Amino acid sequence: MSIALKILTSEDKEACETVKVSEEEVSLDKKKLFIESYGCQMNFSDSEIVASVMRGAGFATTASEQDADLIFLNTCAIRDNAEQKVRNRLQQLNHLKKKKPGLLIGVLGCMAERLKAKLLEEEKMVDIVTGPDAYRDLPRLIEEAETGQKAVNVLLSREETYADISPIRLNSNGVTAFISIMRGCNNMCSFCVVPFTRGRERSRDPHSIVREAEELFAQGYREVTLLGQNVDSYHYGNAQNGEQSYDFAELLGMVARVHPDLRVRFSTSHPKDITDRVLYAMRDHENVCNYIHLPAQSGNSRILELMNRTYDREWYMQKIDRIRAILGEDCGISHDMITGFCTETEAEHQDTLTLMEYVRYDYGYMFAYSERPGTPAAKKLQDDIPYDVKLRRLNEVIALQQKHSLERNQRLVGRVHKVLVEGTSKRSDGDLQGRNDQNKVVVFPRKDFNKGDYVHVLVTECTAATLIGHSVEEVAA
Ligand code: SF4
Repeated sequence: MSIALKILTSEDKEACETVKVSEEEVSLDKKKLFIESYGCQMNFSDSEIVASVMRGAGFATTASEQDADLIFLNTCAIRDNAEQKVRNRLQQLNHLKKKKPGLLIGVLGCMAERLKAKLLEEEKMVDIVTGPDAYRDLPRLIEEAETGQKAVNVLLSREETYADISPIRLNSNGVTAFISIMRGCNNMCSFCVVPFTRGRERSRDPHSIVREAEELFAQGYREVTLLGQNVDSYHYGNAQNGEQSYDFAELLGMVARVHPDLRVRFSTSHPKDITDRVLYAMRDHENVCNYIHLPAQSGNSRILELMNRTYDREWYMQKIDRIRAILGEDCGISHDMITGFCTETEAEHQDTLTLMEYVRYDYGYMFAYSERPGTPAAKKLQDDIPYDVKLRRLNEVIALQQKHSLERNQRLVGRVHKVLVEGTSKRSDGDLQGRNDQNKVVVFPRKDFNKGDYVHVLVTECTAATLIGHSVEEVAA
């Protein structure tokens, strides 16, 4: 059994979240596709590519599974409970399929890649199984499935980046959007399935990324998040062949120059790869947000070695020091942390807590270790920490993070923040909500402001999760 707990963000960024990613298109003659996405932002971004491929094949997206001719679940395999959620959902859809015999059901993404054709044996209602690099093949697979055959393509690619496909923005607020800049991962963190489900790392042509950012800005979007499993290892072009080559710092600058009113965020950074050049690019471009998600996973060097994270506690702390030195104390920093990894002692768990005390993160994504079949940790290490111990350690990590999140927010009270409005506050129609530079949610009275506006907000109070204030005329501090 595994658990996954997340606090202090409203953004669905990590595994084990489930969001229906659908939109309704007005079209009477087209067949209807319903997509539901699970897991990380990469999956949500991929669903937008899938919607684009499927539109080319004559499918419009629908927000109603009852209306659908085709249902895709874009799945996550990073934790056992993420897969369980998908299996439960498939059982529900089976009832729908019995009422509507022509309905096709496809499983896409990491769970499809991990289980491959075995998924068809385990879940009889599934017609199509497609891995993350095979989405261009979906129209053919659907034709095959329409003849009553089961259709599978889980081939991984060394080249596919979908650079030429214009994603269809699903469930969009019209203000913020994701741009996938690379796919796959060359790291081999011992607990992680991603290298097996998403294959080798490959970066997308920077000019196609800039074009996508320009198009989004022209459509009214005001924030893009550049996505990759490890954005700091972004690399395009072979200098040895005389080609111009680009690293992530250059790409950040290129996207930042699209327009000063286009905010740029990125995720995820790896502590071993983030460079001073990236930090300087953040400092030098006002519209590159002052926020870094820097997963630590543990605060103990022995555990980090077992995790094959390729840095130790001291290295990580030095990276934090560089961030603070170049970007200042205000730079928002968040983390991923795993408790109860194989053989973790109480003293090593305490190292995680002291690392958190050292950094004082703004928020975090915290999980109890969940062994995943086929990973190096599953093959070589014993998952020997009892569940109740993992859970108790997780609760300690969460409690400490709550304390730090509140402290970090309290230091922002009394200051003016430039907030990009994303929509109506979840708590009150009279309030708007948006985010400041450090990715913190800010709530304030609506007045005449609209989605997509930049508003200067004086923060007067806060919780651990939210800054609360009112609009002012002054320029942000
Ligand atoms: S960097 Fe490590 S944790 Fe992140 S996707 Fe790659 S292997 Fe998984």
